[in-house]
Amino acid sequence: MTSSQKIVTRFAPSPTGKAHAGGYRTAMYAWLFARQQGGEFVLRIEDTDRTRNTPEAKDDIYEALQWLGLKHDRMYIQSENLERHGEVLQQLIKENKAYVSNEESKDGSGLKKDVIRFRNPNKTVTFIDLIRGPITIDTTDLGDFVIARTIDDPVYHLAVVVDDHDEGITHVIRAEEHISNTPRHILIHEALGWSIPQYAHLPLVLTADKKKLSKRKGALAMTDYAKLGYLPEAVFNCITMLGWNPADPGSEREIFSVSELIERFDFERMQKSGAVFREEKLDWFNREYIKLLSSADFFAHATPFVPLWVAKEELLKAETLLRERIAKFADVAVFFEEHEYLFREPPVDSAMLVWKNETLDKAKVHLATLAALLEGTVDWSGEGIKTVVMPYAEKEGKGSVLWPLRVALSGKEKSPDPFTIAEIIGKEKTLARLSMW
Ligand code: GLU
Repeated sequence: MTSSQKIVTRFAPSPTGKAHAGGYRTAMYAWLFARQQGGEFVLRIEDTDRTRNTPEAKDDIYEALQWLGLKHDRMYIQSENLERHGEVLQQLIKENKAYVSNEESKDGSGLKKDVIRFRNPNKTVTFIDLIRGPITIDTTDLGDFVIARTIDDPVYHLAVVVDDHDEGITHVIRAEEHISNTPRHILIHEALGWSIPQYAHLPLVLTADKKKLSKRKGALAMTDYAKLGYLPEAVFNCITMLGWNPADPGSEREIFSVSELIERFDFERMQKSGAVFREEKLDWFNREYIKLLSSADFFAHATPFVPLWVAKEELLKAETLLRERIAKFADVAVFFEEHEYLFREPPVDSAMLVWKNETLDKAKVHLATLAALLEGTVDWSGEGIKTVVMPYAEKEGKGSVLWPLRVALSGKEKSPDPFTIAEIIGKEKTLARLSMW
């Protein structure tokens, strides 16, 4: 690479399933580096594994990239380059750098079929990984590895090298699991007389129990986070920090805008060991980004999750509570489901009003007394209400008074304390719910 050369990175997902945080971190780094360097970011759909590709997975990739704001400058579908891959295979065969080998098929059928193998020069390959430094691998053990099933059916190793070369990729940024593939790719580049890109192999993304993050381990697809109402900026910020720390030395800052991430991006501060992805951490980031939203933006995000029965003015009144309670906007739906009684008269089961071994009559007496006490209350704040209720509750027994009060207001076994509920629903509704017994 010469210093004047334009930097070109790529994200090369295989559309075989919905990708999760680990896959998209690769895309984010490739994009950040290209943006920082004034280069280009290429999206390549590596769809040569015909048996495992699905159109849904491809659409899912487009949707996730768009949601994250990872716009590509160029895009390729690998299967559209098959002719070119075939040409390169022919060239390698003609130059005796690859050969057709008739072999027993691995499917156990006993049938013989042709494969194309690369003539391995059996040498030691060294490359400088941008994160790990020099990596040396003896390729002898790889033997003459397979590069195509037939002329028009190349395997990944051949297709990736041809495409990286033809698309002018200068930096291959990809997952650690590809380290062992890189010597193969370098050998093919060399056999074709092509310049070798720089490589950066990213540390693994792990689950909390230090296993590789995967769908089987419960990782959500990136598009699931979109559906759950996470903010893309929060997800972006959280995921870029898995294994990389852009903060100034000694600083514990964690919130960085996309433009700050572009400015600060580097390989030097990337760790080599795996990085743990925790959903609680993502929730923390999302809460921080929700705090930054204006009311208008907050409601724009919340609205799709608000049940139809919630009136607009009730929704507006709930803003503070919602902001305190939600980690992601899907929690808005859960909030209203669990707190419906704040907005509508709850059905109250009279048996539930009874405290321990007491009677319903006793509960009714308490509720009537409380209604009378609260009728004259001027300070309708949680504290003000508590000041009026507590002397009576302490005299009669706290559970005996506070339990039926809370149940009468919420209809639920569990809820916030009755003073908070009374404050939120207001004096009129509180008195009505107490007097109906
Ligand atoms: N298609 C490969 C994958 O999804 C990536 C290949 C590469 O980045 O070189 O793992």
